[in-house]
Amino acid sequence: MNSPKTLLCDGCGQPASPEHLAARLQRLEWATRYRPVHIGVLFLGAASPAAAGDYLYAGAGEDAQAAAVGALNGEGRHLLSATGLLAMAQASGRAAALAEFQHRGYFLTHILECPSKVPGGPGSAEIEGQVPLVLARIRRSLRPKRIALIAHGLDALLARFAASELGVTWVLDGGKAFALDGADPAAATARLREALAGNAGGIR
Ligand SMILES: [Zn+2]
Repeated sequence: MNSPKTLLCDGCGQPASPEHLAARLQRLEWATRYRPVHIGVLFLGAASPAAAGDYLYAGAGEDAQAAAVGALNGEGRHLLSATGLLAMAQASGRAAALAEFQHRGYFLTHILECPSKVPGGPGSAEIEGQVPLVLARIRRSLRPKRIALIAHGLDALLARFAASELGVTWVLDGGKAFALDGADPAAATARLREALAGNAGGIR
């Protein structure tokens, strides 16, 4: 029989409703579909976007409506722009652009793999608890060559990342995370594009 006991979500470490767990599993399924075998660049955000339409992998590969790039905003759109794939997404659909994103060895994940419950962005308490799990996942499973930090909330974790000895190259914006969620996301996106292009030889 079903137990009434509350379950903890493995994506955010919080007690979770069946709806929360289902949404978490759905995001995992979408992302797994586009996970490269060898990850060249791991884009690491703070928390999965609160708006479903901001999540890069949301709905892609399913119905045409969800896969249309017009439905994609925020972080997801900035990432396609930074990787030079926005035009492909507009011309050929998001699934085609995500297949190329995967082919180039790009993968997106978040420290908090669920939307934050804190208005205005994830609180440090929410993130802190997940950091050891994410570091272990990066070390044992994802094993990227490079990690690009894409949320300003991750600046507070830079020292911890540096001490983590993951053996990766960090892609940073003047010593900080690329603030795709900051006051000027267009400028941060442009700098991320330059940083990725500047290391093109190391991406594949
Ligand atoms: Zn969760």
